[in-house]
Amino acid sequence: MDEPVIAKMKICLLGDGAVGKTSLIRRFVDDVFTDDYLLTIGTKTSKKKLIIKMKNPEREFHLSLMIWDIMGQISFRKLLHPTYLKGAKGAILVCDLTRKETLDNLDDWIDSLYVERKVMPTVFVANKSDLENKHAFGTAELESVASVYDSPFFLTSAKTGVNVEKAFQALGEKLVEEMFVAGSISPSSKPKLSESAIASNYQY
Ligand code: GDP
Ligand code: MG
Repeated sequence: MDEPVIAKMKICLLGDGAVGKTSLIRRFVDDVFTDDYLLTIGTKTSKKKLIIKMKNPEREFHLSLMIWDIMGQISFRKLLHPTYLKGAKGAILVCDLTRKETLDNLDDWIDSLYVERKVMPTVFVANKSDLENKHAFGTAELESVASVYDSPFFLTSAKTGVNVEKAFQALGEKLVEEMFVAGSISPSSKPKLSESAIASNYQY
């Protein structure tokens, strides 16, 4: 197998306040959960490595993710977006299964993404799946939003950890796909030819 392709990239999480963005990042990065409302002040970044294995051609991608967390209050959106989204290569759109309006608001969040960049890999997440008797919508509603953007979708729980890794992994796969589409890697290219080029292309 060819040597792994190493790329560093920025991703961000978008969605209304208290849907669980900070909790999802903590679960993914540190594998912990706390019940406190972790009020994010301004922005915070976390790092995490993600390994994506491609089958055809067989190739490994080591993505060094810089994950940006934001304070989700609507009044803060316009103020923060320019730096928050600048250079982002992908995004996870997060809503809360117990509050339908957080799903409806994802369209607005997506709009802000498209201002920054025309096409960006996205994954849709409806969080708090553990609160089973409080669900205000289900997979079908999430799917109908995600399908508009041709994106994978998951019901997650930052509390139990269910599907959290999968959601980030799915975004990683889309990021890798985009590297191929963007032409920075051709399936037959030798690693020495493209490694540094890819790494620098994908730094933010
Ligand atoms: P953010 O504003 O989107 O960053 O939301 P937070 O991560 O701060 O979470 C808001 C509240 O929801 C906190 O009290 C969390 O403990 C809680 N929370 C987050 N994810 C889950 C989850 O998957 N299940 C449950 N039951 N509570 C969650
Ligand atoms: Mg937060």
